[in-house]
Amino acid sequence: MLNLHVLEKKLAGLQAETQSLEPQGEALAALTQKVVDYAHHYLATVDKIKAYTGQAAPGKRLRNTPFTEEGRTLDELLPVIREDVDTPGINPASGRHLGYIPGGGIYPTALGDYLAAVTNQYSGVYYAGPGAVQLENRVIRWICQIIGFPATALGNLTSGGSIANLIAIVTARDAKGVAAAKVEKSCIYLTRQAHHSVHKAIRIAGLREAKLREIKVDDHFKMDTKALAAQIAEDKANGLNPFLIIASAGTTDTGTIDPLARQHNLWFHVDAAYGGFFMLIDAVKARFTGIEQADSVTVDPHKGLFLAYGLGAVIVKDVQALRQSHAYQANYMQDVTEVEAEPSPADLSPELTKHFRGLRMWLPLQLFGVRVFRQALEEKMLLCQYFYQKIQALGFEVGPEPELSVCIYRYTGNVANPNRFNEKLIRAIQDDGRIFISSTTLNGVFWLRLAVLVFRTHRAVLDELLAILAEKKNTLLQLN
Ligand SMILES: *Cc1c(COP(=O)(O)O)cnc(C)c1O
Repeated sequence: MLNLHVLEKKLAGLQAETQSLEPQGEALAALTQKVVDYAHHYLATVDKIKAYTGQAAPGKRLRNTPFTEEGRTLDELLPVIREDVDTPGINPASGRHLGYIPGGGIYPTALGDYLAAVTNQYSGVYYAGPGAVQLENRVIRWICQIIGFPATALGNLTSGGSIANLIAIVTARDAKGVAAAKVEKSCIYLTRQAHHSVHKAIRIAGLREAKLREIKVDDHFKMDTKALAAQIAEDKANGLNPFLIIASAGTTDTGTIDPLARQHNLWFHVDAAYGGFFMLIDAVKARFTGIEQADSVTVDPHKGLFLAYGLGAVIVKDVQALRQSHAYQANYMQDVTEVEAEPSPADLSPELTKHFRGLRMWLPLQLFGVRVFRQALEEKMLLCQYFYQKIQALGFEVGPEPELSVCIYRYTGNVANPNRFNEKLIRAIQDDGRIFISSTTLNGVFWLRLAVLVFRTHRAVLDELLAILAEKKNTLLQLN
C-alpha cells in the first residue's frame, strides 16, 4: 500500500486528470448543441431518407474507429454514426417503413431517456428511487386500465415484448407448479401464428421438453377454440398436465386477434405486443373481448405507442405469483427496508439495476395527451383498410380483411409460379429502397405484408407504395 503522503499527491493528480469526465460550461453546451443539431437535421430530413439502403459491406468507418487512449471529438464521431449507423439497412424512423412490425420513435422518447440518463435515477427498488418506481408503476397501471385488468394488477416495464413474454411464461410455469420433474408431462397450447419470441421464452424458461400443442387455425388464422378444448380434454384424459394457453392479440403475420377466452383454469397469456394499444380505440375494443380474463398480457409501447425501441411491458393479475418467481433477498441488500408503499421492479422482474425506462413513456403521454395516440392508431388502421381496397383494384389477391393495421396480399394474375413471382417482386421493392415492406409464408403460400405502425406514415406513403407495386409488377410481367 502507498504511504499517505504519496497517496494524497497521487489522488490530487488523478482528480485533476479525470475532470474531463465532467464537461463544464461552454464545453458542456457545445457537446449538447452538436448532438441536438445532428438530431434536428435528422428529423428535418427523415421524410426524404430511403426506407431501406442496401450496402455491400457496411461499417468501414466503424472498423476504422477503434477506441483510443486520448479519445476523439464529436466532429469526428458524428459522421461515423451518420454514415455507418444511421444510413445502412432499414430506417426504422421512416414513415416509409411498412415491414415487420415497425415502431417509429416519437421525439419525447429521446427527451425522457436524456433526463433519465442525466439524473441516473434508480428505478429498481422503491426505497432508493421512490419517485422513479412510482412513476413506472403508474405507467404500468395505466396499461392495466386499457387492457381491463383490476387495480390490484401490476407488472414490469421491459426492454421489449420478448422479455415481457419470458417473464409471463416463467410466472405461469411457477404459478402452475411445473417443476423440472413435471415439465415433460406439461402441455402448452398455442398456434403456428404465435410470435417466435414465445418459443424462445419457452426454451429459456426450461420448458423445452414440455408438450407444445399447435392448435389449428381457421381460414382467418384464428385459434380454433373447439380444437383447443378437445386437445386439452384429451391431454387431461391421458394423464398429462395442461397448464398454459398462449393467444395472440394481433399476430405478426396477419394482425389477427385470436378468440380470447380463459379455459379450464389454465394460465392464460395474451401476447398483445403488436395489437394491445389499439384497445385505446373504443370502436376496436370489442375485438379484444376476453383479454381482461387473461392472467398475463404482453404489450409493446415501442410498437403501439410509437416510442423509440427499448420499451415493452408485461402485466400480470396475480402480483404475488409474479413476485414469487422474481423476488430475491441478498446480504448486501439488507438496508432495503420493506417500505411496501409500492412494489419494486427488482422484485417483479429479472433485473436489479436497470434503465429508468418509464420516463420515456410517461413524458410523451403527459406532453401530448392520450387522444392523439388514439387518433394516430385509428389513422394507421384506416390506412391499412385503404391499402387493402386499393391493392385489389390493382389486380392483387388479398388475405383476410385486416382487423388492425396489418394485411397480406400477393399478385397471382397470369403468372406461372406465384410464389416465385412475389419473391421477385419484394426483392425489386427492397432493392429500390424507397419503401420497405416484408413478406411471409403461410401454408406454403408466399405473401407480401403491409404493416402500418409508424406515426409518420400517412396516406401519401400508401399511394407511393401502390405506385411502386404497380410499376415493379408490370416490369416483372414484361420480363416473364
Ligand atoms: C414484436 C413482437 C414480439 C416481440 O417483441 P420485441 O419487442 O421485438 O421483443 C412478440 N410478440 C409479437 C406479437 C410481436 O409483434
